[in-house]
Amino acid sequence: MKLFDAHCHLQDPRILSLTPRLINTLESGIDYFVVNGVSEKDWDSVKQMSESYPSVVPSFGVHPWFVPERTADWFTVLKQYFESTPCAAVGEIGLDKGFRGKETDFDVQILDVMKEVGPFPDGVILHSYLGSAEMVPELARLGAYFSFSGHLMPMESQKARKLLKVVPSDRILLETDAPDALPKFNLGDLYVVEGDPSLPPELQTLEENPHLRDNCDISEAENEAQELPKGMLNHPANIHNVLTYVASLLEISTEELAETSYSNAVRLFSYEGSKVL
Ligand SMILES: [Zn+2]
Repeated sequence: MKLFDAHCHLQDPRILSLTPRLINTLESGIDYFVVNGVSEKDWDSVKQMSESYPSVVPSFGVHPWFVPERTADWFTVLKQYFESTPCAAVGEIGLDKGFRGKETDFDVQILDVMKEVGPFPDGVILHSYLGSAEMVPELARLGAYFSFSGHLMPMESQKARKLLKVVPSDRILLETDAPDALPKFNLGDLYVVEGDPSLPPELQTLEENPHLRDNCDISEAENEAQELPKGMLNHPANIHNVLTYVASLLEISTEELAETSYSNAVRLFSYEGSKVL
């Protein structure tokens, strides 16, 4: 089974030192990781990672949280990264819901922006999509792909099912958003990376939790959900848990969903200069 993590942040300082081990979860069937830069500060580490690992698809962008801290030269610098890294995609960019408690109608915001900037004949990913089912057809017409992560799990399952069922099968993607978006799954089924609790959060060096997993061999489910200890972060191998959950809601096999989402991602990421061809 081949899997394609359409959105993650392996350059995140909280897990950067573990990246070689995390990427070695390739044996679990993750062929590609789209590693999204979030600010000028991490573009270089995304680029270096892409040069070191054939499985890393680099992506450069400015996450909405980091827009206020961009430098005056940010756009020139960004263009230089794209010129020197022809295999790169654009991201993470976009809008953020509920910033500092300000209420906005997020669905309307997305659709307006997509209409204004789009259509996107080469495709665009709506990562960790949690918008309404009603908006899906129009967004799909504009060229959107809908990527699902562990963020889907807290959504009421009837609502999540209704949403998934209207997504065209040629537009569905899977992602982990690691190290964020740890899926709400039974602890025994999860892969986690854990911070050193003795260090302040900004200095945490993470170690893979020896009690849980030392490789990618998912054990039998521990049936009762357990409380996750603090400081645990999402491991990209949890793409398997996202796959299992989304396939169950769609009432299709994990094999079928893996194949469909993989070929969608390959199609989307097959542009000139891409590693995914
Ligand atoms: Zn992200």
